Amino acid sequence: MRILRTIAEVRAAVGDARAEGRTVGLVPTMGAFHEGHLSLMREARMHHGLVVVSLFVNPTQFGPNEDLSTYPRDETRDAALAESVGVDILFAPDPSEIYPDGFATTIHVAGITEVLDGASRGAHHFDGVATVVTKLFGIVRPDCAYFGQKDAQQVLVVRRVVRDLDLGVRIVACPIVREPDGLAMSSRNVYLDAEARAQATALSRALDAAEIAHAAGDSILPAALAVLAEAGIDPEYLELRDAETLAPVERVDHDALLLVAARVGAARLIDNHLLRRSPA
Ligand code: AMP
Repeated sequence: MRILRTIAEVRAAVGDARAEGRTVGLVPTMGAFHEGHLSLMREARMHHGLVVVSLFVNPTQFGPNEDLSTYPRDETRDAALAESVGVDILFAPDPSEIYPDGFATTIHVAGITEVLDGASRGAHHFDGVATVVTKLFGIVRPDCAYFGQKDAQQVLVVRRVVRDLDLGVRIVACPIVREPDGLAMSSRNVYLDAEARAQATALSRALDAAEIAHAAGDSILPAALAVLAEAGIDPEYLELRDAETLAPVERVDHDALLLVAARVGAARLIDNHLLRRSPA
C-alpha cells in the first residue's frame, strides 16, 4: 500500500491503474478506522482493481463548537488496518492540499440538508461534506464510491450531488456495522466513558423496539422514545422520514428511515434503521 499526500501523486497512480484496465473504487473517510470503515474497504476490494481510501479530517464539515481539534487521529494505526484489508492507496493530504489559499467554492444541496443533522449541526455540515466529496471525486475519478448507511442522510446528499452534477460515480451504501451489543460503530465512540458506553446501547435498542412496534402495527415513535427515556436520553431528534426524500412521514406506506441523534456523555451519536413498507 502507498501513502500519498498530493493530488498529483494520486492522479498519476490512478492514471497508471486505468491504463492497465483496472476499475477504481474510492472510500472517503476521516480515519480512526473501525470495522465499519474496513467493511467499506473490503467491499471496494471485491469489485475494483484499484482501491483508494482517503483519510482526511475535513475541517469545513465541523462547526465552531464541534470536535475538529479533538477528533481521534492515528495515521500509523489506520495505515496498518487499511493495508491489512488490501487497500492500494491511502490518500492522506494536508488541509492545504485540499483547501489551498483562494479556495472559494462550496457545493450546497438544498432541501434534504435542511433537516435532521443539517438542522442540528447547521448548514455548514453538509456543505462541507458535499464540497469535499465532490473534490475527492474530481481527484480520484472513481467508478464507484463506498459510504456507510450509518450516515444515511450523508448518502442521500452525496447521491443528490452525483445526480445533479452528473458526476458519473456509482454510490454504494453499505450496511451499518455494530458492536456485539448493538451500538453502531463510530470513531466518536472513544469519547464514551464506561457509564455513557452502557447508556449508548439505548439508541440501537430504541430502533429495535421501533421495528417490533412496526411489525406489530403499533405506533413506532412512542416505542422508541420509551427506550431512550428509560435510559435517560433526551434525543436531539428522533424522526420517521421517507427513505428517499427525507420528507416527514406518519405511517410507513413507503420505506422509511427512523433516525436518531443524541448526546450521550461526551459524544454526539447518530443511528438509524430502515423500516420496510408495511404489507397492505
Ligand atoms: P467517517 O470516517 O466517520 O467519516 O466515516 C467514513 C465512512 O465510513 C462513511 O461513509 C461512514 O458512513 C462509514 N461508516 C462509519 N461508521 C460506520 C458503521 N458503523 N458501519 C458502516 N459504515 C460506517
